[in-house]
Amino acid sequence: MPELTGDLDTILAWADEVRTLGIRANADNPADAQLSRDFGAEGIGLCRTEHMFLGDRKQIIQTFILNEDQEVREEAVAKLFEAQKGDFYGMFKAMDGLPVIVRLLDPPLHEFLESPRALDVEIAKLEATGGDAAVIAEKRALMEKIDSFAEQNPMLGLRGCRLGIVYPILPVMQVRAIATAMAELKKEGLDPKPEIMIPLVSTVNELAKLRAVAEQTIAEVEEAEGVKLEIPIGTMIELPRAAVTADEIGTKADFFSFGTNDLTQTTFGFSRDDVESEFVPQYLAEKILPYNPFATVDPGVAKLVKMGVELGHVGNPDITCGVCGEHGGDPDSVKIFHSIGLDYVSCSPYRVPLARLAAAQAALKDTGKDK
Ligand code: PEP
Ligand code: MG
Repeated sequence: MPELTGDLDTILAWADEVRTLGIRANADNPADAQLSRDFGAEGIGLCRTEHMFLGDRKQIIQTFILNEDQEVREEAVAKLFEAQKGDFYGMFKAMDGLPVIVRLLDPPLHEFLESPRALDVEIAKLEATGGDAAVIAEKRALMEKIDSFAEQNPMLGLRGCRLGIVYPILPVMQVRAIATAMAELKKEGLDPKPEIMIPLVSTVNELAKLRAVAEQTIAEVEEAEGVKLEIPIGTMIELPRAAVTADEIGTKADFFSFGTNDLTQTTFGFSRDDVESEFVPQYLAEKILPYNPFATVDPGVAKLVKMGVELGHVGNPDITCGVCGEHGGDPDSVKIFHSIGLDYVSCSPYRVPLARLAAAQAALKDTGKDK
């Protein structure tokens, strides 16, 4: 366990007295949740549940997606439910009494599926070495099936809330796991505070649809467990359309979390995954871009965040607004988010102390006591 000792501890305690911006962390397992708490995080602002779907679980999701047989699908989902319930139980316990925002599955579909190219190479090798014809035929059928899910632009395709709308059994499974873990901890006398976040929303109808699914599922768990469960439901604001229609989206959201990674990507139309390799280095060298907008929030993106916060309050005057993109741990961006009037930023656990200091500096600047 890391220890913040001596002078740093004292300075961070002063920082906490003056800052008005809340500081949360992005974590998706109990150990990181505990680490975040030790560094002073006041909650988990983003639990990326797709990070819980590695190894065997990825295989289970692939079985679910590729198999249309209802029984096979239900069996796969039952396995995932048990695994997820355990994950959430550990995280909520580590963060007892503090909010934990769990984001429903977000990644593009192909990330759950084996690579058709790798399968193709495997088939070629088997053919060259006189492999079993039945195995080759099976692998070829798998490759063709996976290929039928290929998209030209997966980051703009079947991901985020779209995945939950196409496969509602997945959000039902995740919400059941969240609510059941919460009910179990409440029965043990603890105070779990999960919140459910819907990713990549661009219209209020997407949020309304998945909110209804979540509410119904929570009500079923309440009935089955005999425990009252209050679970706020909110959304990521990470697409320009979501920011400019935040007044509509706010009517169905208890909270907004601005995903400035995707919001930067979609506002500029720059791929966040190719920033080092494409034209961006030249743009930076020629000062066409004054700095890397994926590291420090760009003024245009910040304007969208501000608009989203203001409009969100029109839709829901009590809405809570935070940021959970990488910018949440960047001191210059933290100061901008403070000035916009966000409630909190959420960043990697190791950046929590830095964010606490940056938030305090921003608050002191307001009072003129930063000199
Ligand atoms: C974001 O887009 O800013 C975000 C936090 O989500 P992710 O990075 O997981 O897409
Ligand atoms: Mg995102």
